Amino acid sequence: MFTVGLTGGIGSGKSTLAALLAERGAQVVDADQIARDALRPGQPAWHSVVDSFGEDILAAGSMDIDRKRLARLVFSDPNKLAALNAITHPVITGRIADSLERLSSSDAIVVVDAALIVDLGLDSAMDALIVVHASDDERRRRLQVSRGMARSDVNARISAQASPAELLERADIVVRNDGSLDDLSRDADRVWERLREMASG
Ligand code: ADP
Repeated sequence: MFTVGLTGGIGSGKSTLAALLAERGAQVVDADQIARDALRPGQPAWHSVVDSFGEDILAAGSMDIDRKRLARLVFSDPNKLAALNAITHPVITGRIADSLERLSSSDAIVVVDAALIVDLGLDSAMDALIVVHASDDERRRRLQVSRGMARSDVNARISAQASPAELLERADIVVRNDGSLDDLSRDADRVWERLREMASG
């Protein structure tokens, strides 16, 4: 197994690149999906979040956590964000470790797609780190257009994350994603080639 952290700010194009690498043969571990699963009704982290934030955090008439409302709450208050992270980060880290454990004896190139890879302290455990980088303007535009996020939500999310400079310093491979999807696809070819070299070297 060769492990690769894939990170970058929200809207930079991590998940898009992860999907392109999966098409080329990578096994992808998706931290966003893991986080969503961890907050499903009845899961331990669901109980902890409802205990900490109250039942108001549930979607009307449902046991599901209203993720938009939760995001709005925590990205406007650093103490609340710290409280949520204290609940979710250990669970996410543990589940990523379980996924890696399952693949550990394979010869797979495993890409861990996680905005939080450095915050979770996982970057040093990876054999390589890819950072996807796009300008703030481009990220804002993509998130507002494609995910329908409000401008104020986008700004709150962008400013709560590690600065790109910190991430770029740690990167083994940097992918600039300011161009078209075709450009990104060509970069995915180049990145995949490089990962295969690193994995076999
Ligand atoms: P992240 O996982 O980093 O938050 P995504 O991969 O989900 O970002 O990308 C955010 C949005 O921008 C998605 O809707 C995606 O399809 C779109 N996108 C990503 N890269 C490009 C690109 N080069 N050109 C156009 N749209 C893009």
